[in-house]
Amino acid sequence: MTWDFSTEPEFESKLDWMRDFMRKEVYPLEVLDTDDAGFMRAIRPLQDQVKAQKLWATHLPPDLGGQGYGQVKLGLMHEIEGASVWGPIVFGNQAPDSGNSEVLAHFGTEAQKKRWLYPLLDGKIRSAFSMTEPGTAGSDPTLLSTTAVLKGDEWVIDGHKWFTSNGMIADFLIAMVVTDPEAGPYERASMIIVPADAPGLKKVRNIPTMAGEHERFGYGHAEILYENVRVPEDNLVGKRGQGFLIAQARLGPGRIHHCMRWLGQARRAFDMMCERALQREAFGKKLASHQTVQNWIADSAAEMQAARLMTLHAAWVIDTQGAAAARKEISLIKFFGAKVLHDVIDRAIQIHGSLGYSSDLPLEEMYRHARAARMYDGPDEVHRVSVARQILSGYEPPKGMWPREHVPTRREAAQRKFAALLEAAVTDA
Ligand SMILES: Cc1cc2nc3c(=O)[nH]c(=O)nc-3n(C[C@H](O)[C@H](O)[C@H](O)COP(=O)(O)OP(=O)(O)OC[C@H]3O[C@@H](n4cnc5c(N)ncnc54)[C@H](O)[C@@H]3O)c2cc1C
Repeated sequence: MTWDFSTEPEFESKLDWMRDFMRKEVYPLEVLDTDDAGFMRAIRPLQDQVKAQKLWATHLPPDLGGQGYGQVKLGLMHEIEGASVWGPIVFGNQAPDSGNSEVLAHFGTEAQKKRWLYPLLDGKIRSAFSMTEPGTAGSDPTLLSTTAVLKGDEWVIDGHKWFTSNGMIADFLIAMVVTDPEAGPYERASMIIVPADAPGLKKVRNIPTMAGEHERFGYGHAEILYENVRVPEDNLVGKRGQGFLIAQARLGPGRIHHCMRWLGQARRAFDMMCERALQREAFGKKLASHQTVQNWIADSAAEMQAARLMTLHAAWVIDTQGAAAARKEISLIKFFGAKVLHDVIDRAIQIHGSLGYSSDLPLEEMYRHARAARMYDGPDEVHRVSVARQILSGYEPPKGMWPREHVPTRREAAQRKFAALLEAAVTDA
């Protein structure tokens, strides 16, 4: 029997290196006052250091430079790098490029890899994933309405997308479109690579969001019109009708990474909460001595620990049984982790009072970003429905009118079961 919470020492030393590197080299980027070009100049040497440590884009298969780490190890790494918004960029794991590179690595042809994947991995180009539409519910992608029709040797794409993260700056987009309208709900859609300069592709705007105007490096979410966009037939990723299958492969492990990054963020907020509790005094004692504040600290610690163990367990299920076997676990952590992230940041803001509400601390920005976690990659409600359905499929309704645990019914059965023994006891006496 194995039931082990330890990390092997060799890998732990990699994590130690990451923690130190994040604190010393990456956190300072958060408060650097420069333009995008300045950031890129600051980031490149850091990316080189990550590559030298063989920690660059580790989510990829070994033939593309990944280390063959399973999801548990990747999760532990994402927890550290996710503590700063700059971590994933420095470690080559930035969404949506990371998910798109996985899609191309696993489902792309050699020609697609050469044209799009390798330059993406080299950081020479950027990508976007274009699925959600303003006119249909993204929660239920079987409703997608953007179409791609094969005419000659070209796909002709028409539709309206939005919240395509990176869309304005991407060099190519992977669009999820309906290619087979008559097929079953999960076989109608395909993924197609659309170069950003394809005629008919209109980048309308970056949608202003709660995250603010200053969103950079892929944090803008674009509205995109596809008007008679023509791309070569060969731009189909995988097989026709495999859109949902590929999306699942893309999103399963990606959700582990998200949840572990959220824990990295939550941990930073938690540290700030504890430090402020010890620093500030009100009503004759430190905030740390007020019971409500102690409750916040204890509740936050318990919730983060629960979310962490649940997420690492989901990662372990993927590693040992595959992503399909971890569907319930992945949905559990997606909505639970998003709530923990939100609640811990919220308490950290509260303990800082007006300072917490101000931009003099990173908490208000973390809070705005955290709100989106309850929506992207499937809203909370959809994941809860999925979890409940899977759990309920393991139950049967009890026969008859009473619940299975109905005490009078059980008592009657127990009396019958032990009747002989009870009678003997009376006779012996
Ligand atoms: C920051 C951010 C980045 C994103 N990046 C991308 C991207 O790169 N590419 C992309 O394609 N999309 C992206 N999205 C879009 C995201 O995937 C969708 O917002 C999400 O799938 C929900 O779809 P929707 O917005 O159309 O909401 P809808 O489907 O209209 O749902 C609205 C609400 O209805 C409720 N609801 C839905 N189903 C149920 C149910 N079964 N039971 C109860 N209530 C329910 C939920 O509360 C839900 O929030 C991004 C979104 C955000 C916020």
